[in-house]
Parts: sequence; structure tokens; C-alpha cells
Amino acid sequence: MVIGRFAPSPTGPLHFGSLVAAVASYCDARSQGGQWLLRMEDVDTTRRVAGASDEIIAALHRYGFVWDGEMIYQSRRSDLYQQALDFLRDKNLAYPCTCSRKEIADSSTRQGIEGAIYPGTCRQHPAKAGIPAAWRLQTSDKDICFQDKVQGRQQHTMATDIGDFVIKRADGLFSYQLAVVVDDALQGVTHVVRGADLLHSTTRQIYLQQLLGYATPVYAHIPLVMNTAGQKLSKQNLAKALPADNVETVLIEALRFLQQPLPDNIHTRSLHAIWQWAYTHWQLPKNTIAHGKASHQW
Ligand SMILES: [Zn+2]
Repeated sequence: MVIGRFAPSPTGPLHFGSLVAAVASYCDARSQGGQWLLRMEDVDTTRRVAGASDEIIAALHRYGFVWDGEMIYQSRRSDLYQQALDFLRDKNLAYPCTCSRKEIADSSTRQGIEGAIYPGTCRQHPAKAGIPAAWRLQTSDKDICFQDKVQGRQQHTMATDIGDFVIKRADGLFSYQLAVVVDDALQGVTHVVRGADLLHSTTRQIYLQQLLGYATPVYAHIPLVMNTAGQKLSKQNLAKALPADNVETVLIEALRFLQQPLPDNIHTRSLHAIWQWAYTHWQLPKNTIAHGKASHQW
């Protein structure tokens, strides 16, 4: 059984970039007769915007998405994430860290794929008492590689490309990396189709899956929608909310962005018929262009 999922963050309304990701994962799952789950990624409660998750649900309904089962909220699943952390801690794979950002920047001697690599200070010396501690995963020299269905072969060496990364923050919130791995595993997700901005997170997630004894899904990272300034469409750079009307036209634009070979008369079809066409003809986009061009007005 194929199980796909869409996991928006309720930090604002859905925009064209998030619609493209939703359409891709939906078509991927439905074209294989699979299920499609919805998960609200609100693990970082400090970024949550009031009313945004209801708005996202309403927009998904309007665009004709139908999901299987109950939608889950990460903010209600802390116990499950804590169990995973306890498991790692019991195996001496996680340790508390009280280093400040500045201390890490000053003592790091190595650059990884996302900036300064944590030098392992608190792995060698106990974390300072009386200060809230983050929890870091102890990484090894292991190479993690996977074959992305769109982006091709990817590989990172955990200790030297990533370093010991935070799985629970000092403010008590679990990291995205841990939460998403626990959720994908417990929901039985087999196919992850999402934006290429998460491509570099995937080796960390696979590494966690291996440590926690979980299966690794199939991954496909689709090209990102950029705005005219060449930035990824996002809530941070004020991407517009999806229009409430002309949903057929917007859906067709999303399919066009995803390089689907649309028939000439697609514009004459109903929303339902467009979806029917989409998952009967679905093929993953190619990575011929690293980032798609925003050819739409939204
Ligand atoms: Zn530390």
C-alpha cells in the first residue's frame, strides 16, 4: 500500500508553492492507488499563526483535495517525540547541550552543508548546570545516501557534512527533523513528495530512521516555485494566498509547473475532471531546471 502525505506549516495561508507540493504528493499517491494523509506541522508553536490551519484546510477543500483519515497536529504529539528521544538517550545517542550560538560559532572549526558544524563540546564535557539544555543527536562517520526520484543520488557523511544536530530545543520544542521522522514512521508513510528546499534534510531523517529502527520511504523532491526576485515562494517573503475563485485555472497552472503534458482542452473541464486527468497521467517532473520559473500571477 502506497501512503503519501502533505504536511503544511500553519504559519500563513497556502500559496502557489505549497499548492504545487500538495498536488505533486496527491497525484503521486492517487496514481498508485494509495492513501494521502494530511499533517499539520505545527511543532514549532512559536511560529504558529492563529486561524492559519483552518484556512489551509478550507483552501484544500476548495481545490478538491480529499484526504484519508483524521488530520494530525504535531503540537499534540510531544509524548511520541519524547519517547523517540528517550530511546536515543538510553542508547547514548543523544546528549544535552547548553552552548550558545556564539560559543558554537567561536569554537567550530568546520563548515558543513548548513554552516558551522557543532564541535561536540558538550559531548566531551557535561553541559552546564542550571541552564535549559537542548538535546543533540550524536552523529557518526556513517555515509547516508539515497536515490531521489527527481534529484538523483544524494549523499552526506553525517559527522563531517552535518554534525551533531539538535533534536529537542532548549525551549522544550522538538525539532522538525525528529518530529517528521516519528510521524512519517507512525503514519506508515511510504512515499514522501515535497519541495526541493527539504532535499538537504533528508539524509538527517534517514539517519534518524535507521537509529530508531524505522523503514525509509521513497523520496522525490520537486522543483521549487520562485518569485520574480528569484526567491522561493514562502510566507516569509509574503507569497500571496491562493485565490478563492478560478480554482480550476490555478490547479492547471500547478500541473503545468509540474511539467504534466496537459491536453489543449483542459481548461474546459470541471475541477473533478482535471483531477481525474491529473492522476491518470501523473509522472514526476524532471529536474531539467533546478527551480521552475513562476509563470503565474499569484
Ligand atoms: Zn554544547
